[in-house]
Amino acid sequence: MSVRAKKHLGQHFLKDELIAQQIADSLTGNAYKNVLEIGPGMGVLTKYLLKKPFTTHVIEIDTESVEYLQAHYLNLANRIIEKDFLKVDLKEFFRDEQVAIIGNFPYNISTQIVFKTLENRDQIPEFAGMFQKEVAKRIAETAGSKVYGILSVLTQAFYDVEYLFTVPPTVFNPPPKVDSGVIKLTRKENYELPVDEKLFFRVVKTAFQQRRKTLRNSLKTMNLSDSLREDPIFNQRPEQLSVQEFINLTSKIEKDAV
Ligand code: SAH
Repeated sequence: MSVRAKKHLGQHFLKDELIAQQIADSLTGNAYKNVLEIGPGMGVLTKYLLKKPFTTHVIEIDTESVEYLQAHYLNLANRIIEKDFLKVDLKEFFRDEQVAIIGNFPYNISTQIVFKTLENRDQIPEFAGMFQKEVAKRIAETAGSKVYGILSVLTQAFYDVEYLFTVPPTVFNPPPKVDSGVIKLTRKENYELPVDEKLFFRVVKTAFQQRRKTLRNSLKTMNLSDSLREDPIFNQRPEQLSVQEFINLTSKIEKDAV
C-alpha cells in the first residue's frame, strides 16, 4: 500500500490488522442496523465492519481516499459519503434510525466528534473510537483524578465509558508522536437528564474553568443566592464531584430563587 499521508487531515493509517479487527469487534450490533465509520482512509477497519451483520456506511473528507474505497470496496457502493463529519446532519442520511459511530479518526477533531455524538445521542446508541491516549483516558476517568474534567462528566452523563486498550505509535503509517487509546461508549438506558441540559453544561464548564478553586468561588458568576452558597457542596472542588453530584448541584441551582 503506497502512502502519502496528508498531515492537515490527520492521516495516520493503521497497519495492524488485529487492532483493526478488535476495534470493529467492539460494536455489539444490538438494537441498531446502521454503522457509520468516520475517516475510513484506505479501509483497514472498513473491511472488518463489512463482515458484520449491520450495514456499514463511511464518511470521508479526502477525495483520494474516497476514490480508493470506490475502487477496492465494491460492496460499499453507494454508502460512501464524501463530506466532513463535523458538518453533516445525521438525519439527512439516517432519518430517525439509530446509527453506531466508529473510527480511527484525526486527533485534532476527536473532541469535537465526541461533542457531536453527545448532541446527537438520541440517534447514537454506541460509539467506538481511537483517540490520543491522554484524551481517551480523560473521557473514561472518574471523580478524584487529576485528568477528570469537562469531557469526562459530559460524556458519562449520557454514556457508560470503557477504556479498551492502548495502541503504540508503531502500528501507524506514519507513526504519530503519542500513544493512542481505544474507547467504547454505550448509551445509558435513561439518557435524559432530570435537569435543564444547558444549565448542566454551563455548571460543569464553569466549574472546571477554575478547577483548583472551590465551587463557591468558581461559580460566583452564576448569581447564586447566599443561602444556596451555604450548602456544603460548594466547599468542594469540581474534580471531587461525581457525575450524579453535578446533576444534583445543577438541580439545586435550578431551584434557587435569587
Ligand atoms: N481509519 C483509517 C484512516 C485514519 S487517518 C485507518 O485507520 O487507517 C484519518 C482519516 O480521517 C483520513 O482518511 C482523513 O482523510 C479522514 N478525515 C479527516 N478529517 C475528516 C472529517 N472532518 N470528516 C471525515 N473524515 C475525515
